[in-house]
Amino acid sequence: MSETNRKPCILVTGGAGFIGSHTVCELLNAGYDVVIADNFFNAKPEALDAIREITHKDFVFMEGDVADHEFMEKIFSAHKIDAVIHFAGYKAVGESVAKPLMYYRNNLDTTLTLLETMKKYGCHHLVFSSSATVYAESESMPLYESNPLGTSNPYGETKRMIERILGDTAHADKDASFVCLRYFNPVGAHPSGLLGEDPNGIPNNLMPFIVKVATGKIEKLRVFGNDYDTVDGTGMRDYIHVVDLAKAHLAALEYAFKRTGIDYINIGTGNGTSVLQIVEAFKKVNHVDVPYEITERRPGDLAKVWADTSYAKRVLGFTAEKNIEDMCRDAYNYGVKHMK
Ligand code: UDP
Repeated sequence: MSETNRKPCILVTGGAGFIGSHTVCELLNAGYDVVIADNFFNAKPEALDAIREITHKDFVFMEGDVADHEFMEKIFSAHKIDAVIHFAGYKAVGESVAKPLMYYRNNLDTTLTLLETMKKYGCHHLVFSSSATVYAESESMPLYESNPLGTSNPYGETKRMIERILGDTAHADKDASFVCLRYFNPVGAHPSGLLGEDPNGIPNNLMPFIVKVATGKIEKLRVFGNDYDTVDGTGMRDYIHVVDLAKAHLAALEYAFKRTGIDYINIGTGNGTSVLQIVEAFKKVNHVDVPYEITERRPGDLAKVWADTSYAKRVLGFTAEKNIEDMCRDAYNYGVKHMK
């Protein structure tokens, strides 16, 4: 293929992980060439086979650590990388409180090594996996991109710091085009049942926990508080299907190719759903029981969190399409087949 009609080649760091693997499927289906870099810290090689089975397309896989300069050199010298989607990083809030240095070291090092290598090889386009956790606590919903920032744990702080590093880098490099996607609560799985989320040990997040209860691996769900000022007293969040989220990355990539500078964009559905609403939807759509008990509030939890999604719609043309039933059905379908 001649250089003029070569398809853009996208490096996906953390491409074997939960959101990364779904994004790789969307990229391959859209005709991009893909190089995945992953060290399987929080992912499994089976995800790579699943991507091939879903898309009937191939990609380059490089096993290694994105914080390792030699490894990054190996990738950028062997492939003409046109853009990067950067997922690689540690992501467990509780663990980040217990092991802050591990989180700062890993999440910042991976990003700095990546940015240095991109600069050396003249690669200017990046989509970064940020999080709604960068926003300061707010009584009023929805959260707008212009809301004040403020984090309450080292994980969130690494996301905020990386957004800042990207901002400074974009400011210094007139060719840079960076897009930070601030995800709300990604859940669900690929409808094929081949890709999904299988956290190590007891899950912290609601949806994987419900799946473990519904499949009989955990006795019951603990609902953290029913005395919040919400529809039914339980916490409300903006859950987004991982396939929708993956599609948002494609839209962000196309946006990054069209402009320069840095932008920060919420990715959610714009709707809040309570814990008990999720439980009810899960039971109804999957015809299973989800036993639960109401317990104390979880320290640090907020009553309500959801996104204003109008900016994503305006600049990316992105609107989430899948609903809570889709999320519950696909999460269960994957859990039944794969969760240990
Ligand atoms: N939650 C719950 N029981 C659990 C896990 C979560 O009641 O075992 C609630 C939690 O209090 C919050 C919602 O479910 O209201 C989403 O929690 P998750 O940890 O998935 O996301 P985050 O709190 O980070 O938005």
